[in-house]
Amino acid sequence: MASVEITGLRKLYGTVVALSDITLTIPSGSFYTLLGPSGCGKTTLLRTIAGFHMQNSGQIRVDGNPIEALPAYRRNVGMVFQDYAIFPHLSVRDNVAFGLKQRKVASAQITKRVADVLEVVQLGAYADRMPHELSGGQQQRVGLARAIVIEPKVLLMDEPLSNLDARLRVDLRAELRRIQNELGITTIYVTHDQEEALAMSDTVCVMYGGVIQQAASPLDIYLRPENRFVATFVGANNFLGVAQDGDRLTLKTGADLTGAIKGERPATITCAIRPEALRVATGPVADHQIRVPATLREVSFIGREMEVFGTTQAGEDLKCIARPDPAVIELQPGSPIEFLADRADLLFFEDSVTGARLT
Ligand code: ATP
Repeated sequence: MASVEITGLRKLYGTVVALSDITLTIPSGSFYTLLGPSGCGKTTLLRTIAGFHMQNSGQIRVDGNPIEALPAYRRNVGMVFQDYAIFPHLSVRDNVAFGLKQRKVASAQITKRVADVLEVVQLGAYADRMPHELSGGQQQRVGLARAIVIEPKVLLMDEPLSNLDARLRVDLRAELRRIQNELGITTIYVTHDQEEALAMSDTVCVMYGGVIQQAASPLDIYLRPENRFVATFVGANNFLGVAQDGDRLTLKTGADLTGAIKGERPATITCAIRPEALRVATGPVADHQIRVPATLREVSFIGREMEVFGTTQAGEDLKCIARPDPAVIELQPGSPIEFLADRADLLFFEDSVTGARLT
């Protein structure tokens, strides 16, 4: 178990700024996920920690000891890759033993450690198989066994589940979390799959443009996004324009929001509402709610729930996820419809890509 501390890390590829002043702390034993769209810098950050890339500036400390100048093989980190990276010509046992042999561990100890680790990843019965005789999920377990058998201080995983089919991904993510908990190993995990990030992590670090946008618990990331980018990238959100006239604030579709923002107000404001916070209005709207009139585009009945899509008079697209209601499912596209939401569920942001949340 080891803590990881990164300070002012910067990495350029030519003139491309892949990482711009990254500072973060990962407590010992925790599962820390780097989440973001393609090109946000998450792989570069992971590979810089591993020692495969050299930073332009900044420090990386493991348990307080600087490692940024060490070659990869001396950093004591284990790495699991998206494409498994196991040797096709070696058996499962020999793949897992490889790192120990390189480190000149005594052969009796290798036998024991390999057997122990294969039990942890539940491949004890497969030790003599060749990689081509394994499923994708089993090959990735070999990849994991290879990374943890050397007892690294930090485990790095680069989209380890993305080559697997959806069902297996869900099974294996629970399994990865179980193993990580069991070993208590500090883990840094890269994914662009937000559901995976929310389900597995102690901390989710959302990146965009080589910059950390927010690092917080999954619940905080979802319920209290610090900026518009996080609110857009993690989970779905509806964004509605806000009009300002002196102290008076309204949605462009009419609802009065005066007093909803206490602090300073930027020139342009957007209001975010999660699809599950919207409902279809069937009666009068209470004081603690707002009303959003729209035209129905489509209702999609998907069993446990219905998805209702509308367009407001200001041309904004809306999505509402609610319990199925036959009266709504039978409405024709083009019908007038009213959505409602609790005022407590509204979040406000400065209206730019990474605009800050307003309070
Ligand atoms: P993905 O999910 O697609 O792997 P990522 O978030 O991991 O994306 P990185 O691979 O870290 O992103 O890339 C960050 C930025 O650096 C991108 O703009 C990318 O084009 C650029 N980049 C990455 N590797 C190189 C390279 N070897 N040479 C030049 N630019 C690079």
